[in-house]
Amino acid sequence: MERAVVVGAGLGGLASAIALRRAGWEVTVLERRDPPASAGAGIALWPNALRALDALVLGDAARDAGTVEIGGGIRTASGRWLAHVDAADLRRRQGDGVVVLPRPDLFALLLAAAPPVRAGAGVTHVEPGDAATPAVVHDEAGGRHEAELVVAADGLRSVVREAFWPEATVRDTGQTAFRLVADHVLRAGGESWGRGEYVGLGPLPGGRTYAYAVVPSREAPAGDPLPWLRARFAGWHDPVPAVLDAAVGPVLVHPLADLTPPRAWHRGRVALLGDAAHAMTPNLGQGAAQAFLDAVALAQEATTDPSSLAAYEARRRPAAEAVARRSRTAGAVAAWRAPLAVALRTALTAALPAAASAAALDRLLGTPETAEEMVP
Ligand SMILES: Cc1cc2nc3c(=O)[nH]c(=O)nc-3n(C[C@H](O)[C@H](O)[C@H](O)COP(=O)(O)OP(=O)(O)OC[C@H]3O[C@@H](n4cnc5c(N)ncnc54)[C@H](O)[C@@H]3O)c2cc1C
Repeated sequence: MERAVVVGAGLGGLASAIALRRAGWEVTVLERRDPPASAGAGIALWPNALRALDALVLGDAARDAGTVEIGGGIRTASGRWLAHVDAADLRRRQGDGVVVLPRPDLFALLLAAAPPVRAGAGVTHVEPGDAATPAVVHDEAGGRHEAELVVAADGLRSVVREAFWPEATVRDTGQTAFRLVADHVLRAGGESWGRGEYVGLGPLPGGRTYAYAVVPSREAPAGDPLPWLRARFAGWHDPVPAVLDAAVGPVLVHPLADLTPPRAWHRGRVALLGDAAHAMTPNLGQGAAQAFLDAVALAQEATTDPSSLAAYEARRRPAAEAVARRSRTAGAVAAWRAPLAVALRTALTAALPAAASAAALDRLLGTPETAEEMVP
């Protein structure tokens, strides 16, 4: 049987382990953390993510764990709507709405469907192999794993990528994200833009809300940021202050970064996947979606012949890198601070016809027909 080693049991690594096993590979998953875990308050799954999960037979479980149908869009800090995302229209065009669910629940779904994970097995280095020899993966527990395919799904600071593609560097955006869950029933979701900072709200099942706030890094406080966040966003539109007041559990703090693209996504028998290949800023809610799409494509294209990895790269790299570029631009625009720039952004966003934003969103997400090609 063909052997695959997946490095990293994050959302991308688990999805690829599931997809490869479905395609007949004998899969070993090596994870540095013990136990494996995914910290995070909530996560938004756009229709392209759900289609990829459908190919892993996990789409309905994700929908069941998260679907709360409300509309959303973009607002100013004072609450003036600039653009609407109509949930029913999105569903008509894409076959799905946006599903927001607790990130630990999504992680648990994938973990339960994946081959067993070897936790506490951080990978130290990889011999990439070639058409004549298998790859060899070495872990810190002294393990030596031969494989016909190695999936480097070890995230933004991937040691595998750093060894083979040192030109790909982590770019700090100068922003910090705060994420939390609140005991609050949301009536409308989406993002609200201020001057240099923005807030996003999404509905969670059980009458809860997933909220994130992004601010310029140098303004992030040390210690528990909740009192500072409440003070900072006190003057924002309803329900931003109420959501922050109703926060439950810890606030997660995350400096935002993305990746300059590596020159290639494969070397010998090693393929990059997920954040290790194309870490992006979270502005379009597409990082995990793109990792799931990578997983499905890799399982379809990879064979024991390492030259097959060129087809995986050709299929996924242009699309994922385009999404990463759009995400970075969206993040930069959302963080504009200068009054003139903010006024221009407000005017342009409000003036954009709904059909044009819907078309741009559909270009980003692909079409439901793509799902046919995705079934392994
Ligand atoms: C603030 C924020 C909000 C986001 N919101 C969304 C959203 O709403 N929707 C969306 O689609 N995406 C979102 N994303 C992006 C998404 O979280 C990531 O793109 C996705 O989790 C990447 O998964 P991954 O498996 O590629 O990497 P990771 O999740 O980073 O997983 C990598 C795994 O590899 C392990 N590892 C690292 N090094 C080694 C090693 N040497 N050996 C073994 N294991 C190793 C790590 O411990 C980890 O478990 C968001 C990101 C951020 C930062």
